[in-house]
Amino acid sequence: MADCVFCRIASGDLKARIVRETPELVAFMDLNPQAPTHILIIPRKHTASLAACKAEDEALLGKIQLLAAEIAAELGVSGGFRLVTNCGRGAGQSVDHLHYHLLGGRRMNWPPG
Ligand code: 5GP
Ligand code: ZN
Repeated sequence: MADCVFCRIASGDLKARIVRETPELVAFMDLNPQAPTHILIIPRKHTASLAACKAEDEALLGKIQLLAAEIAAELGVSGGFRLVTNCGRGAGQSVDHLHYHLLGGRRMNWPPG
C-alpha cells in the first residue's frame, strides 16, 4: 500500500534503521523510542492489525514472536523485555499496519498505561 508508512519501510522506499530482515518480516528501530531498546517488527504483507489476521496468518504470527526473542537475545535484553501489539485506536494503535513493539533495557511496569 503506497500510502502506508510501514509498507514503505518494508519496500525500502522510506528509510529506517533496520535491525533484521527475513523474506516475510522486517525489524527496525522505532522513530520515537519508549525504552533504551525499542524495535518494531512487521510483516512485509500489509495487514491492518492483529484483529484483521486470519487462520492463514498463524505461522507468520509465530515467526514474529520467535524473531522478537532472537533480537532480544542479540541485543542483550532477553532477561527482561516486553512484546506488545496495540490493536485499535482505543489501545493506542496509530499506524494501521500490524506491528509488534519489542521493548527492553529498562524496568517494565504492570499494569501498562
Ligand atoms: P502504534 O502507536 O501504532 O502502536 O505504534 C506505531 C509506532 O510507529 C510508534 O511507536 C511510532 O514512533 C512509530 N513510527 C511511526 N512512524 C514511523 C516511521 O516513519 N519510522 C519509524 N522507524 N517508526 C515510526
Ligand atoms: Zn502497510
